[in-house]
Amino acid sequence: MIPTSGSYHLANVRLHQSLTPDLAANFDSDGFALADISVAHGRISSIAARGRATTPAGAVDLAGRIVLPCFVDCHTHIDKGHIWPRRPNPDGTFMGALNATEADRAARWSAQDVARRMDFSLRSAYAHGTRALRTHVDSVAPQEEISWPVFEAMRETWRGRIELQGACLLGIEGVRDRKWFDRLAKRVAAAKGVLGVVTYMVPDLEELLDHVFAQAIKHGLDLDFHADETDDIAAISLKKIAEAALWNGFEGKILVGHCCSLARQPDLEVMDTLDKVAKAGLAVVSLPMCNLYLQDRRTDHTTPRWRGVTLLHEMRARGIPVAVASDNTRDPFYAYGDLDMLEVYRMATRILHFDHPVADWPQAVTATPANVMRLDGFGTLAAGGDADFILFKGRSWTELLSRPESDRIVVRAGRAIDRQLPDYAELDELMVE
Ligand SMILES: [Zn+2]
Repeated sequence: MIPTSGSYHLANVRLHQSLTPDLAANFDSDGFALADISVAHGRISSIAARGRATTPAGAVDLAGRIVLPCFVDCHTHIDKGHIWPRRPNPDGTFMGALNATEADRAARWSAQDVARRMDFSLRSAYAHGTRALRTHVDSVAPQEEISWPVFEAMRETWRGRIELQGACLLGIEGVRDRKWFDRLAKRVAAAKGVLGVVTYMVPDLEELLDHVFAQAIKHGLDLDFHADETDDIAAISLKKIAEAALWNGFEGKILVGHCCSLARQPDLEVMDTLDKVAKAGLAVVSLPMCNLYLQDRRTDHTTPRWRGVTLLHEMRARGIPVAVASDNTRDPFYAYGDLDMLEVYRMATRILHFDHPVADWPQAVTATPANVMRLDGFGTLAAGGDADFILFKGRSWTELLSRPESDRIVVRAGRAIDRQLPDYAELDELMVE
């Protein structure tokens, strides 16, 4: 259906207002308008609303199918991905996940093991239409010396298909060993990575955060936190991160993931935290599938009573940039997943109510994470931009989000890509004891 080369025109595509900033059109109540797109030399040469210009002869008529820009997945763990068969989570709890992953990392994460699983994950993400992806890289000693060179090689291999970013991952208590942490920050800077830690309510949290900010400032690094992935209302590290950002006058970008406990806290506490988050310029990413899986997990055969996700609507109302992302895939933190951002958006719509109205929520898997990751031109469709988009069967939100859209067409630099997913059997030899 998509010509394999040269210039072509796609007529009658359905575009969303929030993802086509330059398109002048009468958008309907779902935010859609019909348009024609012209592609030449791998770029979008023009986008015009239907009826505003003559449709060129020979245009492919797409009969109102939805076209979205390629996805941006800003929070993943592709170094952990797909270890489930050899290291399942025994009871589905957060502690079960942590212990199982630590044991697997210590025993099995050679450079070859990490590389094979990372490549598998990236092939899945690419086939589903993802164009940029940030992964956390477990960096507890001695894993940082194994995984960061693998990450750097993988980023080069995938350049042009997936823009890969890496953020180090360690519990904040690891920052107490200043000498080691400063060396890690230097290593992350050398890899042009992002400085990341997991925050807990440890007694010296403020002091440790100050040191993380100092290292980020010293090396010119952006920051990425896992915060408050718990139902414990005493977990307020999101607020502590915002305060540290303000106190340290931090000017880089800060992304904070999870923030689950915020949804359980009293309104006054929430408002105070969100004021500080907005003032400090933090962006927040929710991981709805992992949160649903791990939060409120009960081992006494009772039913979960809350969804686990943070307060994205309240954040968006205050102008805080908000995203959703994949998080873990087929590892002890989440038994499922395939780095399919349409699945993430579909699940987010249901869990977080990204509907009625849809408004600008589609930016949460495209333009907003692109901005957090400093990727100009990603996550929107515009004349002059790369012809990187996904062509779906659905012609409305209800059609798009009711089926897996496994037959979607992913176009990169103007050409439809091979969307073959890697076979699970490829990893079988890594799964034997
Ligand atoms: Zn995570």
